[in-house]
Amino acid sequence: MADIAFIGVGNMGGPMALNLLKDGHRVRAFDLDSQVLKPLAGEGAEIAPSAYEAAGAAEAVITMLPAGRHVRGVYMDDAGVIAAAAEAAVGEGTLLIDCSTIDVESARTVAEAAAAAGLDMVDAPVSGGVAGAGAGALTFMVGGTDRAFARAKPLLDVMGKAVVHAGPSGNGQVAKICNNMILGVSMIVVSEAFTLGRKLGLAPEKLFEISSQASGQCWSMTSYCPVPGPVPASPANRDYQAGFTAAMMLKDLKLAQAAAHSARAATPLGAKAQELYDRFCEGERGSLDFSGIIKLIEEGA
Ligand code: NAD
Repeated sequence: MADIAFIGVGNMGGPMALNLLKDGHRVRAFDLDSQVLKPLAGEGAEIAPSAYEAAGAAEAVITMLPAGRHVRGVYMDDAGVIAAAAEAAVGEGTLLIDCSTIDVESARTVAEAAAAAGLDMVDAPVSGGVAGAGAGALTFMVGGTDRAFARAKPLLDVMGKAVVHAGPSGNGQVAKICNNMILGVSMIVVSEAFTLGRKLGLAPEKLFEISSQASGQCWSMTSYCPVPGPVPASPANRDYQAGFTAAMMLKDLKLAQAAAHSARAATPLGAKAQELYDRFCEGERGSLDFSGIIKLIEEGA
């Protein structure tokens, strides 16, 4: 049993913290929004009045926050997690685990600040969404030293089904944005192909039957098909209720483009995907599932 501080217990962090509680760990939670803390308090979590006090004597601190600026603030402010952990000097040093999806540069900056204070830190963004968080079935992509990874893995195993070491600090975020760029682009092209096929007289069910067994096969088609019918569990069958929202996909595509720009990597399809998701979200459809992008294609994007 570990003494864990969990900071940022919204849609993802809430169920993740709950799984740690169910596994017998002590959880001290903090969030700026008191509403999201209530269900956790009901399940036995202690509620802290600040990130600093949550981190205090914890053996591990886990964060699940919206973006890089929140992560930098929570860890690096004067009264932040790194200051609290360095002061408490617990055992081999508090282990820091950031599960948020953020820019690579922020992840590396915070990890450097942690290392300078003698603390192990990993970036461990996730794939699997709210359903995966609830079921303890997330995939974690982890950046950090071998030692930090070995310390983090037993806790990540409680919340996930797969925990992969991607290399040094920041590489978890690199894996996440590369994976989601593949996902965003492939969802658009599957939407285009099904729209084109239908306009040329090929029923979506028939195209699915053929392409799912041919070289066009991919996850966006066979596990998450953007047309209703072929994959009963896909959001297309419930009016594109998310799922993984288009706004989240846009966030990840923007992170990929910013990283591509700073690494001078050419990502022309990633750039086009960002432009299309931008247009889709402008129409106030950002809260729909990202597979709803097929509506924009059907409208003649
Ligand atoms: P969310 O908005 O539901 O939760 C974030 C929480 O952080 C909120 O409760 C907010 O009040 C809290 N917060 C913000 N600033 C804070 C601060 N300074 N101190 C304490 N708490 C603070 O978002 P979410 O859907 O849980 O997503 C969290 C992260 O997970 C994001 O980085 C997102 O990109 C990533 N992610 C989300 C999904 C998904 O399907 N929702 C999937 C994969 C990854």
